[in-house]
Amino acid sequence: MFYFRTVSVNPKIPDRIKRLQELQYNLWFSWHKPALELFRQINEVLWEDVYHNPVKLLLEVRQEDLDAAAQDEEYLALYDQVFNDFDRYMNNDKWFQKNYPQHNGRTIAYFSAEFGIHESLPIYSGGLGVLAGDHSKAASDLGLPFVGVGLLYKQGYFTQRINRDGWQEEYYPHHNFYQMPIVPALHENGTEVHIPVDLPQGTVFLKVWEMKVGVVKIYLLDADVARNSKEDRELTGQLYGGDRDMRIKQEIILGIGGVKALRALGITPYAWHINEGHAAFLGIERIRELVQTGIPVATAKEVVKASTLFTTHTPVPAGHDTFDEGKIDKYFGYMFGQLGMSREQFLKLGWDKETNSFNMTILALNLSCYCNGVSRLHGEVSRKMFHWLYERLPLDEVPINSVTNGVHGQSWVAQELKELYTEYLGAAWSEDITNQEQWERVEDIPDEEIWSVHQKKKEEMIFFVRSRLEQKRLRNEEGAERIHEIQNFLNPDVLTIGFARRFATYKRANLIFYDREILSRILGNPERPVQIIFAGKAHPADDAGKEFIKKIYQYSNEEPFRGKIVFLENYDIDVARHLVQGVDVWLNTPRWPMEASGTSGMKAAMNGVLHCSVLDGWWPEGYNGYNGFAVREENSVYLSEEEQDREDIYSLYKLLEEVIIPTYYQREDNLPREWIRRMKSSIKTITPYFSTNRMVREYTGRFYTPCIDRGLLFTKENYALANRVKAFKQYLMENWHHVAFNDVSTSGTKDMNIGDELTLNATVKLGPIRHEDVNVEIAYGQEDGHSLHNIQTSPMQMVEMVEEGIYKYSGKLQHSQQGTFGYTVRIRPLNVDFAHAFELPLVTWAGTF
Ligand SMILES: *Cc1c(COP(=O)(O)O)cnc(C)c1O
Repeated sequence: MFYFRTVSVNPKIPDRIKRLQELQYNLWFSWHKPALELFRQINEVLWEDVYHNPVKLLLEVRQEDLDAAAQDEEYLALYDQVFNDFDRYMNNDKWFQKNYPQHNGRTIAYFSAEFGIHESLPIYSGGLGVLAGDHSKAASDLGLPFVGVGLLYKQGYFTQRINRDGWQEEYYPHHNFYQMPIVPALHENGTEVHIPVDLPQGTVFLKVWEMKVGVVKIYLLDADVARNSKEDRELTGQLYGGDRDMRIKQEIILGIGGVKALRALGITPYAWHINEGHAAFLGIERIRELVQTGIPVATAKEVVKASTLFTTHTPVPAGHDTFDEGKIDKYFGYMFGQLGMSREQFLKLGWDKETNSFNMTILALNLSCYCNGVSRLHGEVSRKMFHWLYERLPLDEVPINSVTNGVHGQSWVAQELKELYTEYLGAAWSEDITNQEQWERVEDIPDEEIWSVHQKKKEEMIFFVRSRLEQKRLRNEEGAERIHEIQNFLNPDVLTIGFARRFATYKRANLIFYDREILSRILGNPERPVQIIFAGKAHPADDAGKEFIKKIYQYSNEEPFRGKIVFLENYDIDVARHLVQGVDVWLNTPRWPMEASGTSGMKAAMNGVLHCSVLDGWWPEGYNGYNGFAVREENSVYLSEEEQDREDIYSLYKLLEEVIIPTYYQREDNLPREWIRRMKSSIKTITPYFSTNRMVREYTGRFYTPCIDRGLLFTKENYALANRVKAFKQYLMENWHHVAFNDVSTSGTKDMNIGDELTLNATVKLGPIRHEDVNVEIAYGQEDGHSLHNIQTSPMQMVEMVEEGIYKYSGKLQHSQQGTFGYTVRIRPLNVDFAHAFELPLVTWAGTF
């Protein structure tokens, strides 16, 4: 190899439209259709060839096209309008400035292994990345002082092609970052930012790139620089590629390199968000930084925890990264000393005794003070999964919360629908999408209008699908007849179901084929036919997922499914956008309760596409009996997988034949009025709540600003509070074995009446622990014979000290509800500086009384 410098030689952009230069590098364009139009109209054919990448467009476009645009009155009017909107967007105070002026400028850093912002930057694999992208867009809309940190993958995830046999083939195009909407990050003196990260084979250098997303920035790390060895240059080659060594190295680059990158850029975050366990090493680097300035490691750990939030994203065990001890020794052995930790202490931070390995989720739990799952149900499932880490606590009190996911409405709602919303809801709808009240006005949209927009999007989608199919068959050299028949595939007047997502097996893409006879009957009914469009990528190492694709592909070539079932290649944000805007029903059939949230159904619902789903992930919160469809009302852990498949699929067939299909085809004055009523219900009930706007506000109020406050408190006066909290925890851990109940008595009887009150008295032994440092409390809740649920607590009062270390407590409990309840008393640590009741998961329960 030899060294060279890169230069991009561009056509000259005429002065009148010079600001395209600026706009091409702000992904604000990705959710602003008129901005995309500005690029598309310069050369529509080229726009498709460069896959909607404005940087590439402006690099390849002919000078004449630019000159022509600069003289076209209509184009210039659009141009002025777009920059008017852009400037207003970039310069106005937003929600955060208005609600948290005291925190303005206090950066929140969000670390994620993938970001899915737009099809022109393919550095995402699926839901996690698209969520991170939508999160960043909403952070910009709300004006959060927010930076993202991620990796810049030279080959992205992969480009999917299906060969003639239906087998998925993966292509790894090498992206030229200079032709993407990102720029190298620069020091103040104009030099590029390169940061070193130590790995066993030596130091690797990472070049930092900057992506603008409205008013926020995302920094992406790239190992493909000349000073690295050939092998090291591959470290940011592929997302989720390679072996365990590759995975840990990438996670080191993300976590450790990410912190170093922010420092090098002069950015000091006040709150840190670990988005999925991949990024958890950021906490290790922050501990190291503090320890290197002379702070004891236990104090450093408290400082880091105090300002960190962790979001977990999957209940599927394989989704949680684990590494064996050997890997930790290999990659972190050199660092134990710098961290002031022994090997055992380091391992303990992430030790998973269930798998005997170092688990990134556990590391993240240990290095954050708040943790959340991504739907209510997923919160519950996560509490179950990690209950063993907090074994003295009842399940409900395991400190894992939930914030239900959302999607960025501006990115996913069809432009024509946005215009309808503006007309009937008022222009302000897009400024505050979460305002529930305004969505009532969806009812004012005339049925004809909403239906005609829907049909238009459906026709466009079918046109898009056909042309993609044609490209594929041409590429596979399938012959004239096979090309020609595509024109008869899919009919815009037929009920169309969309199913598109990653082909992870738990998502059960092939479930609908369970009983082919019934499916043929459903699809082939001449009066009320149905058609299905599939898309999705299987992970390159997942042969089972690829078998699913192959099966679906084969069915799509056989009677009676030919022309009624199609498989569309290379599912990505562009394909997703067409499908969620153009089908009638969005189908989701994961194996309950494996879907943490799911978000594609939200995108569909906002477009008036009815969501038909197993009651998993977000759907139990979204479904109201009318705004979509539920496959099976009851789910149960007691069913085997086979039983679950059978129950779900026959429920789905029945739902299709008895409800969905008849409703769709029931017409009054040529309109499916009942269907349209459901479409409106879907739009108005789902859009405001399941938006990332609501989601990011929730993160801000519940976690980001508390993390900022805690971080400041723990740091000030030379880490005084962090030291106190550390000392408190250590003291309680060492002395908790003294804590016990000597006796407990109750005035209550077995049967009582509503309104009755009972008194509880307890004598407790605290040993050397001060009574001010514990809470002795009544715990009260529903009981199932094993444990208490929906626990409520009320503190007991200390009434006397019996002798040194022994105290009497008393408290009252009033029965305000009918039913069977359980009550008991317990002792737990009490510290006002804890983020929540069980930051130190110690508790002593009363024995029998
Ligand atoms: C929204 C989206 C996903 C996530 O879909 P799920 O319903 O969560 O499986 C995956 N891939 C792409 C390209 C998306 O746009």
